[in-house]
Amino acid sequence: MQACLIRGAEVLTLEGPQGLQPQRLDILLREGRIAELARDLPPPPDAMVHEARGKLVIPGLVNAHLHSSEMFFRGRYERMALETWLSYAYPFFAAEPVGLRLLYLRSMLVAIESLRGGVTMISDDFFDPPKHDLERLATVFRAYGDIGIRANVSSGLMNLPYLDTLAFGREVVPPDIQAALEFPLPTARDYTAYCEDVFRHLHGDYDGRLRFMLAPSGPQRCTPDLMLACMDLARQHAVPYHTHVLETRVQAVTGAKVFGGSLVRYMDDLGLLHPGVLMAHAVWISDDDIARMGAAGVSVSYNAIANLKLGSGLCPVRKLLDGGVNIGLGTDGASSNDTMRIFDVMRVAALVQTLQDTAPERWLAAQDVLHAATLGGAKAALLDHETGSIRPGKKADLAFLDLASGTAFTPNSDAVRQLVYCENGSSVTDVMVDGVFVLQAGRLTRIDEAAILEEIRDVMGEFLARHREVEAANAGLVPLFEEIRRRCAQEPLPG
Ligand SMILES: [Zn+2]
Repeated sequence: MQACLIRGAEVLTLEGPQGLQPQRLDILLREGRIAELARDLPPPPDAMVHEARGKLVIPGLVNAHLHSSEMFFRGRYERMALETWLSYAYPFFAAEPVGLRLLYLRSMLVAIESLRGGVTMISDDFFDPPKHDLERLATVFRAYGDIGIRANVSSGLMNLPYLDTLAFGREVVPPDIQAALEFPLPTARDYTAYCEDVFRHLHGDYDGRLRFMLAPSGPQRCTPDLMLACMDLARQHAVPYHTHVLETRVQAVTGAKVFGGSLVRYMDDLGLLHPGVLMAHAVWISDDDIARMGAAGVSVSYNAIANLKLGSGLCPVRKLLDGGVNIGLGTDGASSNDTMRIFDVMRVAALVQTLQDTAPERWLAAQDVLHAATLGGAKAALLDHETGSIRPGKKADLAFLDLASGTAFTPNSDAVRQLVYCENGSSVTDVMVDGVFVLQAGRLTRIDEAAILEEIRDVMGEFLARHREVEAANAGLVPLFEEIRRRCAQEPLPG
C-alpha cells in the first residue's frame, strides 16, 4: 500500500491539550495507519501527496447504535411509541425476510449514507428473524466490505416469549392472540454454536475492518443462560456485548413488576455489567443504576433523535458522564430516526439536554458531543485504540470537510461548535477508512452508487406494497400494546 501525505489541512485531532483546536498539520500515512503528524512534513519519495488546504480534517465519526434492518422503512412512521411502532417495523405476523440481493442493497444504503455523512465506523445491531443464517450475515458483511466502511455487526436476538417481556402482556392480550404470538425461540446452545461459526468464518474479515459483536436484545427479552453465554463469548473475543436497556417507561415498569426492580440492577446481579457492555438508550435509569454502570465502566449509546421520535424520553447524559459512564452517539434504525446522519444527532443531542436541567453549566458542551461522536463511540465499540481520534499509530479513519464550499463555516468562528451546531454533513468531501479514500471529491470510490440507488428505487414499489399487507396483518396488535402502555403509565417506577 502506497504511503500518503495529506498536506496543509486544518486538523482537529481530539487528542491532547490542543485536540479541540484546529492546527495546520500534515499527516503521513503508512499501511493504513497514521505514521506522523507534524507541520510541514517533507514528502517521502514513495508517498503520494494529497493536497488538503482549505479542508478541516476530523476523526471519522462513529455511529454507536443502528439497525440496518429498518433502512427501507425510513419516513414511514410517525406519532407512534416504541411498543406500538414495533408491530410495524419488526412485525410479528406475515413478515418474510428480505432476499439476499435486497439484504445486500439495504446494508449498502446504510453505508452510503453513513460515509457521505463522515461516519467511518458503525455498530449495526442486525436483527433478522426468524433464524440466524451465516449466508445472510455474510451478505451484510460483504456490502460493508465492498464499500469500505468499518463495522461491528451483530446477529441480534431475543429468546423469551414476547408477552413475558412486557408488564401486563399476559393480562391485556386475549388468549387466541397470545397463542398466535408463540414462536420457536433459540436456545443458548443453538445461538452460541452459531456465534462460534461467525467468529470462525466472518469475524475479522476485510483486514479486520469488520467484526462480530454479541447482541442479546435486552435483559428482559433473553434468558439468563443466553445472556451469560453471550457475555462469555464477548469477553473471549474482546467484542462488545451490545444490548438495549431501559428505553421506555414500559420497560422500567416491566423491570419492577417482572424482574423485581431495575433492569440495570438485574443485569448487575447476573454479572452482566462489564466494560465491554454497550447499552443503547438508558433513558429510564435511576441514580443507583448510574452508580452501578459507572463502577462497571459500561458505555451508553445516546440516541437523541430516535428517543424523541418514539417519545421514549431523555437520556440523563450529564449524570452518566459525572458517574464515569462512557457515551457514544447513535442514530438507531432508519425507521425511528430517519437517517444515518450523526451530524443531525450531534446537534439534537446537545440541544435537547437543556430540557434536563435548569443550570446551564450542566448542559452538554459541543466538545462533549463531538467526543461522544468520535472517541466515545470508538470506546463503546472497543476500538478506541484503533479509531476515534487522530494520532500516530491509529488507523487513518478520517473525514475531510471543505471549509469554503458551503456556509457552515462562513464565518469560521469555532470549529468544534460549528461541527455540532452548523454542519449537517454537506461539507464532507472526502472520507478515508484504513488509509483508503472511500469517498473522494464527493464520489464513492469503490461502488457504483448511482446504479445501487437506482436498483433500490426500482424494487421498492413492490417491496413496500408487500409491506403494506404485513402492516395490515399486524394492525390489530396496536390497540393492545397501547393498552399496555396506558397501564404502565399509571404504575410507579422502581427506585
Ligand atoms: Zn435499537
